Amino acid sequence: MAMNIQTIPNVSDKINQIRHLTAGIINKEILPIENQLWRGRRGGKDAKADRERAKALRENVKLKVKEAGLWAPHLPDEYGGCGLDFLEHAYMNEVLAYAMGAASLFGVVAPNSGNQKILLKYGTEEQKKKWLVPLTEGKLESGFSMTEPDSAGSDPRSIKTTARREGNEWVINGHKWFTSNGLRADFLIVMCRTDDPSGPADRNDKMTQIIVPTDTPGVNIIRGIEVWGHSSDHVEIIYDDVRVPAENQLGQTGSGHRAAQDRLGAGRVYHCMNSVGQMWRAFDLMVERATSREVHGGLLEDKQFIQGFIADSYIDIQASRLMTIHCAERMESGVDARTEISALKIFVPAAYTRVVDRAIQVWGAAGVSGDLPLAGMYQGARTLRLADGPDEVHKILIAKNVLKQYHAGESWDFGN
Ligand SMILES: Cc1cc2nc3c(=O)[nH]c(=O)nc-3n(C[C@H](O)[C@H](O)[C@H](O)COP(=O)(O)OP(=O)(O)OC[C@H]3O[C@@H](n4cnc5c(N)ncnc54)[C@H](O)[C@@H]3O)c2cc1C
Repeated sequence: MAMNIQTIPNVSDKINQIRHLTAGIINKEILPIENQLWRGRRGGKDAKADRERAKALRENVKLKVKEAGLWAPHLPDEYGGCGLDFLEHAYMNEVLAYAMGAASLFGVVAPNSGNQKILLKYGTEEQKKKWLVPLTEGKLESGFSMTEPDSAGSDPRSIKTTARREGNEWVINGHKWFTSNGLRADFLIVMCRTDDPSGPADRNDKMTQIIVPTDTPGVNIIRGIEVWGHSSDHVEIIYDDVRVPAENQLGQTGSGHRAAQDRLGAGRVYHCMNSVGQMWRAFDLMVERATSREVHGGLLEDKQFIQGFIADSYIDIQASRLMTIHCAERMESGVDARTEISALKIFVPAAYTRVVDRAIQVWGAAGVSGDLPLAGMYQGARTLRLADGPDEVHKILIAKNVLKQYHAGESWDFGN
């Protein structure tokens, strides 16, 4: 089923144009061959030939995306992107996420895209030339290495990996895991503690991000961690006396926490708009099946259990979408939206999980098969509840912001 994208009355012409153009590519170029685009990845008979055919198909879609002027929405023109602003990019995401994996065909590949944004904002001209340009041209791959097995990822200030300055070099020691894309990465942006660990624990200026080429002696990639039963390129790494030039430091010493927040804040809105697009797809699949599958003498759509699924999913999608757009509009206008970001980071992945769960139920065994994108969506939705800050941490943040306002003598203004 094609994604139904109509003109939205109260947004800019540019947003409407981008959504229509993106939907054109999703509906005409991607959905009809969706099952062939990623063939051969899990091995099996003819895997090599399948992989080559799939790659050629993907390259062809990428050409169409570039012709439509939609390549790399997160990057400005001078770095080969289409230079969308924050809101335009958010609105584009709900459309392109309708097809699984489509973001990469539009030049948005995590964690490279997040690293590109960080290099754009914090990189020196030299760093941009050396790392950002080849990254945008697809000549280099990268990873972001923050989470550690021995400290809580939900409290980034507890990171134990250290970087100590020796002359003109940083010397890095530590143990990280879940560094995505680690097997292919040419360089990693590594979050390091560069301050005296004996200082107060709650300070934010103890961390610095440092660019580390993966072929530097002492970068020991131990394994790709198995995730949801499959091998993956989320890697575990030991940094053992890794020496890199001091000029590999990104931004000021101590700016690492701020840079990570910059990356994650916008990223959470983009991820939630992606989730909305994927819920939209799951919803279409669920309704399609409900209107065609006969059980116990009638169509599924006539059973009230299933009508309940449709109504509850409709509510979940509308609520998620409106929350995310409201938050994106606040961010675009420069207002502090941290409470809204935390709220949607909790609500949207949970709603996404519910919607996909119902779609799987309606499809029965086919719902968990590789013939449909639902099983992959389900795993992605569940993972989102702990990645980018787990639910509990965001709840604490919301309550803290609300209580602060009430203690200051003001109630909460839900109208803005
Ligand atoms: C597929 C995948 C890809 C990833 N990619 C990357 C990557 O590229 N780079 C990277 O650096 N990291 C990556 N991560 C790691 C991810 O960011 C962390 O897993 C996440 O930040 C949570 O950290 P943790 O796993 O250490 O959990 P912990 O911090 O140990 O938290 C575990 C649980 O404790 C609970 N909890 C935490 N704090 C509180 C609290 N204050 N009160 C009550 N309960 C609480 C929550 O339920 C939480 O889920 C990835 C993870 C996954 C699954």
